Amino acid sequence: MRPASIHRRFVPALAIWLVAASCTGLEPSALPDGAVPMAAPAEYSEWYARTEACAELRGALEGIEWYVVPDVATFETDIGEKVGLWERVGNVSRITIAGYYVENEMVVRHEMLHDLLERTGHPTEYFVNRCHLTWESWDAAES
Ligand SMILES: [Zn+2]
Repeated sequence: MRPASIHRRFVPALAIWLVAASCTGLEPSALPDGAVPMAAPAEYSEWYARTEACAELRGALEGIEWYVVPDVATFETDIGEKVGLWERVGNVSRITIAGYYVENEMVVRHEMLHDLLERTGHPTEYFVNRCHLTWESWDAAES
């Protein structure tokens, strides 16, 4: 058997595998382990309004689906241990918060700012200068 014929037989199988792998990217990503749906606590509307104000952006709090991982300080994600996580799933914003931080204004508003900016990553202008929604800039603004 010549090597060329071996290649011909393996290429279609690889192509099918790649298609299957890319299709899974279109499905909603799995929630963090232990995450359960949460009704947004009452103070979240004020926190959202405050975040809209510092960012000078308008969003829709009711467009966010909230989840909590009860009784933990951090939870595992594909990008490491987190206290909060914002994801865009279709046209829905999904925010998951570690149980210990559900009442923590900085952590919750940090994720709200991701929602308003519709992006991951932390542009300094918004997360530090305008809104102080990083641990360091939050502490500096409070003291
Ligand atoms: Zn962030």
